[in-house]
Amino acid sequence: MIIVLKPGVTQKQVEEFSRQLEKQNSVKVNAWYGEHSVVLGLLGDTAAVDIESIGAQDIVQSVKRVQEPYKKANRKFHPDDTVIDLGNGSAIGGGKLGIIAGPCSVECEEQIVQVAQDVKTAGAGFLRGGAFKPRTSPYAFQGLRAEGLELLRHARKQTGLPIVTEIMSPAHLVLFEDVDIIQVGARNMQNFELLKELGKCDKPILLKRGLANTIEELLMSAEYIMASGNSRVILCERGIRTFETMTRNTLDIAAVPLLKKLSHLPVVVDPSHASGISWLVEPLALAAVAAGADGLIIEVHNDPPHALSDGAQSLTPAQFEQLASRIREIAPLFGKELSVRQD
Ligand code: PEP
Ligand code: MN
Repeated sequence: MIIVLKPGVTQKQVEEFSRQLEKQNSVKVNAWYGEHSVVLGLLGDTAAVDIESIGAQDIVQSVKRVQEPYKKANRKFHPDDTVIDLGNGSAIGGGKLGIIAGPCSVECEEQIVQVAQDVKTAGAGFLRGGAFKPRTSPYAFQGLRAEGLELLRHARKQTGLPIVTEIMSPAHLVLFEDVDIIQVGARNMQNFELLKELGKCDKPILLKRGLANTIEELLMSAEYIMASGNSRVILCERGIRTFETMTRNTLDIAAVPLLKKLSHLPVVVDPSHASGISWLVEPLALAAVAAGADGLIIEVHNDPPHALSDGAQSLTPAQFEQLASRIREIAPLFGKELSVRQD
C-alpha cells in the first residue's frame, strides 16, 4: 500500500503517523522524502488495513493498494487450483467440469425425481433445486421451504446425485445439515452475517455474483467465508445488470478467465440466469467452457411452460441431454473432462 502525504507535512508528523500505522496494522512503514511530498510504503499483510480511514486523515493526499485486499482467495498465495470433490466422481475444478442441473424450484416429488433421473442420465454430476426462493414479488411462489429440502434428499436417494440448494437466512442453517453444496444467491452475495455463518460450516459454498457487483467484491465475499474458516468456496458468474434489455442479465464472460487468474477457487457459470432465455443457454454454456469455466449450473424442467419459476430459461430434459453431449465433446479441447457420477 502506498500513501502520499500532503505537501508541507513535518518530519515529526510523518514519524508519528508511521508509528501509528505500524502499531495498528502490524506492518512495516518506509518513508521516502521527495522534493514536494512524502510517500509512505506499507510492507507486510495489508489485507486488514482500512484504506478509507487512512484516506480520511488530514495529512493524507492519496492512498493506493498495490496488493489485492483478499488473501485467502488469492492465487498468489495458493497457486494450485482448489478442487471441490464430493467423491464418486462428483468434482468441480482441477480439470473436472462439474455440471449442476435441475429445476429453478422444487415443485413436487414427481417433478424433482424425474428431472434428477433425466439430468443424471444425460451427464450431470449434481442436482440443483430451489427450496427457499428469493422472488422479487412477495406474491410469487416462495418455494416449498423445508418440504423442498426433504424432496431433494429423496431425489438424492433415488439417483445418488449430490444436492445443491440456496440458503437465504443463517436461521435456516440447521435445516441445511444434509445438503451437499449450499448456494448463496446473487441477492445475498453481500449478506455478510450469512457469509460469516457459512464460513463456520463444513460444506462447500456456491457463491453467486451479485446483480451489480464487481469481480473484486465477489472475491471479497468469498474471503468472508474463507476468513471464517471454510475454504471450500465455488465462485459463480451468473450475469450482471447492464443497460441491455434483450437478455435478463449480461453474461460477463471475461469474469471467468479473470477469476481463474486472480483466484485458485473453481469458477462455475450459470447461463440460465445470465440469459433468461432457454435457447441462449447452450451457446452461453459452450462459451463458458471455452473461457475456462470449471462447471455449469443449468436450469432443467420437465414442463417448462408450467414451471412455478423461471420456465422461460429452463431447458427440457431432451435439450439438456443435447447440451451435455456437446459439452462432453468440446471439454477436452479446453483441458477439461466431464465429472461423471460413478454410482
Ligand atoms: C437460482 O439459482 O434459482 C437463483 C435465484 O439464482 P440467482 O441468485 O443467480 O438469481
Ligand atoms: Mn431460477
